[in-house]
Amino acid sequence: MAEQEIIYLDNNATTPLDPAVVEEMLPFLTRYYGNPSSGYAFAARTRKAVDLARERLAALLGCAPSEIFFTSGGTESNNAAIHSALAYSAVATAKAGQFEPHRKHVVTSAVEHSAVLRPSQDLEKHGCRVMFLGVDQHGNVDLAELEAAIRPETALVSMMWANNETGVLFPVPKIAEICRRKGVLFHTDAVQAVGKVPVDVNAMNIDVLSLTAHKIYGPKGVGALYVRRRNPRVQISAQIDGGGHERGMRSGTLNVPGIVGLGKACELCQQEMAQESVRMRGLRDRLKAGLEAKLDEVFVNGSMEHRLPNNLNMSFAYVEGESLLMGINDIAVSSGSACTSATLEPSYVLKALGVGEDLAHTSIRFGLGRFNTQEEVDYVIDKMVQVVTKLRELSPLYEMAKEGIDISKMNWQTA
Ligand SMILES: *Cc1c(COP(=O)(O)O)cnc(C)c1O
Repeated sequence: MAEQEIIYLDNNATTPLDPAVVEEMLPFLTRYYGNPSSGYAFAARTRKAVDLARERLAALLGCAPSEIFFTSGGTESNNAAIHSALAYSAVATAKAGQFEPHRKHVVTSAVEHSAVLRPSQDLEKHGCRVMFLGVDQHGNVDLAELEAAIRPETALVSMMWANNETGVLFPVPKIAEICRRKGVLFHTDAVQAVGKVPVDVNAMNIDVLSLTAHKIYGPKGVGALYVRRRNPRVQISAQIDGGGHERGMRSGTLNVPGIVGLGKACELCQQEMAQESVRMRGLRDRLKAGLEAKLDEVFVNGSMEHRLPNNLNMSFAYVEGESLLMGINDIAVSSGSACTSATLEPSYVLKALGVGEDLAHTSIRFGLGRFNTQEEVDYVIDKMVQVVTKLRELSPLYEMAKEGIDISKMNWQTA
């Protein structure tokens, strides 16, 4: 099938560029190539463009432009936030106005993106205790459990805003409120949430926040970290040292076209969020209803109530995951073994929700986006129904289940 005939429903993995973003970037790929660090007038053009982008990000997050640091994306932002955990203790000390022993304890969740999980595991090698909180069957954290996990020596709590696989939204404002009350810094990996749900870092007590451009119709390889400057002032330790760019936090010549694109992407999200989230939810619910109307033995993974408007994660029992994906190869979606598909390990996120291995293997993440249409959704419903039905016709297990035989109680004895 020709590439242009693909229906792209993997917008939680990455998004296409919005044409308005491309248009804004183009002059900075051609005519305006001055290094923003240079002093002459020609470079002022790029410097101004970077300033504007910083203002647009600040407007979307409700912070000051000086609290935005540009990075290479969500992974780098998360690494900087987590690796700085041990430096945070000094801030907490200053805030309390008294000497405190070094804080060497971090609380995060078991369903974080690997860009938080791996650096957190790394902290453990440096004498830090890290607690990975589990989630319930709906994919959410328990606030009482979270509060109990915070100890006097906790330096940082890091909880993602929206899960990249299930779209489940953690109650970030409530989590952040607990952290503020307990005097612990709070970081959120908001890569999936920014631009889709309202964010106000001040009203919501967020101290550090990660975002990336390519999940919000901006270019790949550029992102940002919000770092609170006052009440309390948060100190991030530089991960990339050199010429002292971004106030010493992140050295390296600025990716001007990328930053310009990220800025425009943020502006578009701010303008369109309210109406776009209604449209996304409409398409997503249509997809869900269409599949559930024509297929039995399908299961939604994760809370429908606390969820991104554009995400549907569903398991299709009695089909083989690989065959299902092959049958719908004109639709770009991810499966429950997406991130580790080379090993065919089922998703650790679905596992944490208690989804069994079989159902995890036949799960599909549908990620709707700005450029998807109702016609596409209807095509996907028809195609899914057709392929799942065909695969089940070949499945003796499905037949037995329909005949009322409880497969789980069967005695699989070999002759
Ligand atoms: C995509 C993603 C990241 C990584 O962002 P990159 O810009 O690709 O490095 C981090 N966290 C979450 C939740 C994501 O979905």
